[in-house]
Amino acid sequence: MINYAKLMTMAALLRKQLGEDSSSPVDIIALAQRIDGLTIVYYPLGDNLSGMCIKSQNGNNVIAINSAMTLGRQRFSMAHEFYHLYYDDSMISVCAKKIDSGKEIERGADMFASYFLMPDAALVMLADELKEKNADHRLTLNEMIRIEQYFGVSHQAAVYRLLHTPYLNDEEANNLLNLSVRSTAESLGYSSDLYCPSAEAKRYKTYGNYISQAEQLFSRGLISSGKHEELMLDAFRSDLVYGDDDEGGDVID
Ligand SMILES: [Zn+2]
Repeated sequence: MINYAKLMTMAALLRKQLGEDSSSPVDIIALAQRIDGLTIVYYPLGDNLSGMCIKSQNGNNVIAINSAMTLGRQRFSMAHEFYHLYYDDSMISVCAKKIDSGKEIERGADMFASYFLMPDAALVMLADELKEKNADHRLTLNEMIRIEQYFGVSHQAAVYRLLHTPYLNDEEANNLLNLSVRSTAESLGYSSDLYCPSAEAKRYKTYGNYISQAEQLFSRGLISSGKHEELMLDAFRSDLVYGDDDEGGDVID
């Protein structure tokens, strides 16, 4: 049986361990890049998978995120993979896209991700404030969009977080899950980035430990420039070999 209180505590402790406070929205992509020994791979993993976590005995771990999912869903998936990285004994975890489905450990990892990205006290404060502004004192699509934009998660992740709380009943949640969000978010003045997949040029990328390890081997003369290039190309980092990133040259800002 899933122990929700325990998952909430684990999420709070990991936020603290990683240097985050207990309530603010987290830039989880930047946070992942600060974890020692972690390589992050963005790759289109198809329609059914959200991500993977592959651990090794020597502390060189890999998290893969399905870059064909929306940015909000990718952020949720990263928090889900944190559960496997820190609290799951399995060395390899392959994770389904559908939230709150499958084995107990997968559903637990989803709840952990919810608590990690949307801590209870901060969520309650925001939800209370928003529902008071609504005439019927319930959360409708507009309020849900403000919540998911504040915490930087997908619409589905925000709805599942509030399901089984006094804020959303089953019928309200079902209705919300079937609504198109992007145009409403734009009409409220938000960017639609959260609801879009990674740009084509960023769907295949590797960041973190693998890249820095290869750079170190090269700079210490332990691998040739040809081998270094090969390693970068294997990691979809042709931009580091040919400088062909679509973002143009360096801009000092
Ligand atoms: Zn999982």
